Amino acid sequence: MTVDALGTAGNPLRAAVVGSGPSGFYAAEALLRSGRAVHVDMLERLPAPFGLVRYGVAPDHPKLKEPILVYDRIARSGSFAFFGNVTVGRDASVAELQATHHVVVFACGAETDRRLGIPGEALPGSHTATEFVGWYNGHPDYRDRQFDFSHEVAVIIGQGNVAADVCRVLAKSVDELKHTDIAQHALEALARSRVREIHVIGRRGPVQAKFTPQELKELGELADCDPVVNPGELALNAQSEAERADKMNRAGARNIEILRGFSTRRQRGGKRCYFRFRLSPVEISGGARAERVLLERNRLEGEAFKQVAVGIGEKIELECGLVFRSIGYRGVPIPGVSYDDKRGVIPNRDGRVLRDGEPAPGLYVTGWIKRGPSGIIGTNRADSVATVAALLEDLPRLAAEPKPGNTGLRALLSGRSVRVVEYGDWLAIDKAEIERGRPKGKPREKFTACEEMLAVITSQHERRTR
Ligand code: NAP
Repeated sequence: MTVDALGTAGNPLRAAVVGSGPSGFYAAEALLRSGRAVHVDMLERLPAPFGLVRYGVAPDHPKLKEPILVYDRIARSGSFAFFGNVTVGRDASVAELQATHHVVVFACGAETDRRLGIPGEALPGSHTATEFVGWYNGHPDYRDRQFDFSHEVAVIIGQGNVAADVCRVLAKSVDELKHTDIAQHALEALARSRVREIHVIGRRGPVQAKFTPQELKELGELADCDPVVNPGELALNAQSEAERADKMNRAGARNIEILRGFSTRRQRGGKRCYFRFRLSPVEISGGARAERVLLERNRLEGEAFKQVAVGIGEKIELECGLVFRSIGYRGVPIPGVSYDDKRGVIPNRDGRVLRDGEPAPGLYVTGWIKRGPSGIIGTNRADSVATVAALLEDLPRLAAEPKPGNTGLRALLSGRSVRVVEYGDWLAIDKAEIERGRPKGKPREKFTACEEMLAVITSQHERRTR
């Protein structure tokens, strides 16, 4: 029997996308716009879609959540099915997905954090940014975390945009947060916070800080928190001056300008956010919990744009009650797929997953689990377009026999009594969250437990069958 070419009406390409964050949706979009006959099934371990946009973007940055409107349009396309509440590697193996689908695209992001590798890192009161961000955004994995805001001083290690988010949420007043989609438990705990002083620590200098200028500037525009910078810490060595002056490094130059502005500000007497430079944490210590951070002063060594922090032996101690480590994310391995433990990514060449150094037929990767945790949400669009281009180039070489796609996947999951959340089910959860938020003047009040989300679907089904 002759088989129609893959990606034609007689033999549509059955694609499984693992993960429903930005890179997953942009991969789905690129596949659906490829001009081939394609059906996309998107698998997500939580009942709710949108990954980083729902659970990573700070609640006071609603504009950054607007891509959800695009993802919603993709999800409503006739050639797309959402399989929420399904964990790949537990409910369905990668080998099983390869049996039901021609291609599998991993778009599962970077779900865990890098480690500092210093003594005391795991003391109570020393948290990863991942935990805090997940907690205030109502992520089911982090809803039960406890943060002790009873001490006046908090320390944030790292100077990227996640550190900026953490700093802003700690520094903002309840009035600045109460009309956002921040989880209610977080709003209540932060309302009781006694944190007055936040130290944001960078191991390198001000030109090397990874904040984007807009995020840094925003930290100088808060209702009840003043930015504080010691002008002495803004001194630049010759290489940093060259970095600042480089026309391609607009962010570095702008950040210095903003920090210089902060250094001459008058304090208003409210909360304070200190930006500290050339300091590396060497130990977090305390009795039962984190009470201080020991920092070593650094100098920068190396040529411009390649400078590294080198300790000079001089130490300072910072008393505090809370530590947030915000030094970048890393991916989590998926059973049945190779994993580069050093980089925290799936090893790949142009998005083709590598197994023993060679492309594994039919397996692709995109987003943070492909390239590491860098760039803004839109960066993932170009990344997913590139991965899908590689996939389409491989199409003539893929085994072309028709695959069952979502029918096969549904049968497999139903045989295992997995409760699949479909996109229509998510829309019911979405509607219920928006309704819960309305009386509080919030865009939504998220359900923070998977069971709560599943209960909404159950009651909707019951209403329909009554
Ligand atoms: P990031 O931008 O890579 O920043 C990580 C920070 O941690 C850097 O300051 C880095 O310093 C520091 N660091 C790393 N290892 C360290 C160590 N061992 N000791 C001390 N410091 C260490 O990562 P991120 O803040 O997690 O953000 C991830 C991505 O999401 C970024 O692309 C970011 O722009 C994006 N994001 C964007 C937004 C937004 O657009 N509003 C919001 C949040 C996140 P070095 O430079 O010295 O390595």
